[in-house]
Amino acid sequence: MEKVDILAVGGHAGDAEISAGMALCHHVRQGKRVAMLHCTLGERGHPTLSPAEYAERKREEAQKAAAVIGAEVFFLPYMDGELPVNDEVKFAICDTIRECRPDFILTHWRGSMHKDHTNTCLCFPDAIFYAALKTIERPLPSHWPKQLLYAENWEDPYGFVPELYLEIDQKDLKLWEEMATQYGLFRAEWKTFHYVEYYKALAKVRGLEVSTEFATAFAVPENSRRRKLTTLL
Ligand SMILES: [Zn+2]
Repeated sequence: MEKVDILAVGGHAGDAEISAGMALCHHVRQGKRVAMLHCTLGERGHPTLSPAEYAERKREEAQKAAAVIGAEVFFLPYMDGELPVNDEVKFAICDTIRECRPDFILTHWRGSMHKDHTNTCLCFPDAIFYAALKTIERPLPSHWPKQLLYAENWEDPYGFVPELYLEIDQKDLKLWEEMATQYGLFRAEWKTFHYVEYYKALAKVRGLEVSTEFATAFAVPENSRRRKLTTLL
């Protein structure tokens, strides 16, 4: 498949869209290509549908959401709440990285109330090393993404420090809302968190923090903080 510029990896279908989605929309509007990988469908969260019924619906919603921005979409075969941290998952993520060859990867911050979010995060950076090492033989050739960043998610707040602010605009937000609301969960079809309202307000707050109208913020991995300068002036 054609290379993408950004891959967003979420614990449940919907996470990549809701937390990394504004950045994806911003770059799609600049003509870039993006992909999303959902480690589980998040199928245990519906008030009336069985997990099997909701899994089917969430897969369809994920495909519709991806279609709104022309994203490639990938799924791992794990059950909601049961995503492990092990080499099987890391190699599955590695294979997706090798398939879509992104420059940037966006995923969860580790300090989460959701085990699947934390475990998705903890599969990095090993999944990237596995993707990058030529000497690890997999079906596809190696690929080394330039940068991993942690997207902001209301369920992953513990210790999250916004460090990198991406300026976005009203059109990015409009596209993001169209993408996110492909999910019944984000249309608030049942009593739940006010996702869309929260993330739009957050974009306003993050924008104000860097003197712009709207922004979406990321935490930076510890090993990416080193910067080489030739002068302090
Ligand atoms: Zn989630």
